[in-house]
Parts: sequence; C-alpha cells; structure tokens
Amino acid sequence: MEDLKGKTAIVTGASRGIGKEIALQLAKRGADVAINYVSREADANKVVKELEDLGVRALAFQADLSQMTAGRELVRKVQKEWGRIDILVNNAGITRDKAMKNLSDEDWTEVLDTNLGSVYATCSEVWPIMMEQKFGRIVNITSFVGQAGNFGQANYAASKGGIIAFTKTLALEGGRHNITVNAIAPGFTETEMLAQVPENIREKIISRVPMGRFGQPEEIAKAVVFVAADGDYITGQQINVNGGVYM
Ligand code: NAP
Repeated sequence: MEDLKGKTAIVTGASRGIGKEIALQLAKRGADVAINYVSREADANKVVKELEDLGVRALAFQADLSQMTAGRELVRKVQKEWGRIDILVNNAGITRDKAMKNLSDEDWTEVLDTNLGSVYATCSEVWPIMMEQKFGRIVNITSFVGQAGNFGQANYAASKGGIIAFTKTLALEGGRHNITVNAIAPGFTETEMLAQVPENIREKIISRVPMGRFGQPEEIAKAVVFVAADGDYITGQQINVNGGVYM
C-alpha cells in the first residue's frame, strides 16, 4: 500500500532504534523520509540506503537537537529540498538517569533540552509550513514515564510529561488548520536505550509488564504510522503502546 506517495516526512533520531523503524514503515507506505541523527553518521547512511531500496527519496541530516537552532535548521533544510513537510515525527530522546539526590543541573538541562526543547523547536518551525499547506501530521514520542513517573528519572519524566501537555495544546491550535498533533507513549522497548539498564533491573522490569516481555521498535512504529497515515480525525491523543505496564 503506497498511500503516502507524494508525502514527505521528517523523523528525528532515526539512525537506530524506534526512529529507524518509524522511518522504514513510513517509506513502506510510500513517503519520502528525511532522517536525523546526532553522531552516528554511518548508521544514518545505512538507513538512507534501506529507505532508498524501498523506492522513496531519503536524506540524512546531522543535527544536535539539544540546540533549538539546530531543530529549526533541520526543518528549513528539508523544506528547501522537498518544498513541503507533511509528517513530523519527534522521536529523538536521551536518558541521564539518577536518583534526585544525585541529579545535577547538567543532567536536568541536557535531558529537557534534547527531549522537550527539540520538540518545541521543530514544531515551531514546521507550524507555518503546515498551516500554509492546510495539512500536517505531527507525532511526538513520549513515554509512559511521562504519566506514571519512574524512580531515577525525574528529568526524563518531566520532559516526557511536558511533551504530552505540549501535544494537547498544539492539537487545540492546529485543529482548524487540518494539523493533527498526537503523542505515542511506548513502554519498555528493546533498543540501545534499554540496553543501558543493568540485567538484574531488566529482569525486574519484565516482571512488571503484564505481557511478560519488552516491546519491539516495530510495534511502536506501527502506532506512529497509524496516526500519521490513517488518523485523520485523531488529534490531541496520547496512545499507549506498552504491553500493559501502565493503564
Ligand atoms: P535510542 O536507541 O537510544 O536512539 C536514540 C536516537 O536519538 C538515535 O538516533 C540518536 O542519534 C538520536 N539522538 C540522541 N540524542 C540526539 C540529539 N541531541 N540530537 C539529535 N538526535 C539525537 O533510543 P530509542 O529507544 O529508539 O528511543 C526513541 C524515543 O522513544 C525516545 O524519545 C525515547 O525517549 C522514547 N522511548 C523509548 C523507550 C525505550 O524503552 N526504548 C521507552 C519509552 C520511550 P545517534 O545514533 O546519532 O546517537
């Protein structure tokens, strides 16, 4: 099914993990996809090759999205190349986990700037483009932690909770311009981010998940593509894809 043919998408943090799967699934539906990465150029180039092998146009842009100017520049570059941006997926994110007593100002700022500041910057830059097009699909990747909180993740939880509130507000403002804005909230998903967690803690985490396993990046990507491609009347929602770890 190539129903996204002629549409263009940006996926941030798509050199690996969940973002890579989102990019591939959008391309399988026919969209041209611009991906972003911060340091792993070789991985990003491999993703571009995989996208092109699916018969779509693909671009990779290095940008450190902890800097708002870089997020804005990313959007401007894609608009310059392709002349429109239909889908924006804000996926890039990091963790700097520490219990509150050990959390530094740097841990706080780095996570808030990368996870939340970047979402503001790309949305702000794409907003007039989507208003002009009278069409836009924005999908922000949050986390169940933004709703439930999580020990050792005060900075991360604040950034992901902020994304949910930001998403709902943009949905209110975008509705009459045919811009939908939604958030997808993964549970624990098998990527390098989760691989940083020590094995004994990973076992404890699995015991908390009703489905008894971690999620796969493909399972998160399916939900993203659903709202971006088929969710014409879905806006302001936060859709949980978490194996039941938070209900
Ligand atoms: P991941 O495997 O660690 O991949 C992170 C991606 O973000 C990479 O492409 C990385 O680029 C990019 N990135 C990191 N810092 C960046 C920066 N400053 N500027 C631009 N790009 C940057 O992460 P993931 O597990 O796929 O997570 C993707 C999203 O899902 C994140 O928002 C995360 O918070 C969310 N999430 C993940 C889980 C989970 O269990 N995995 C659960 C809930 C929510 P490089 O390759 O160049 O480093």
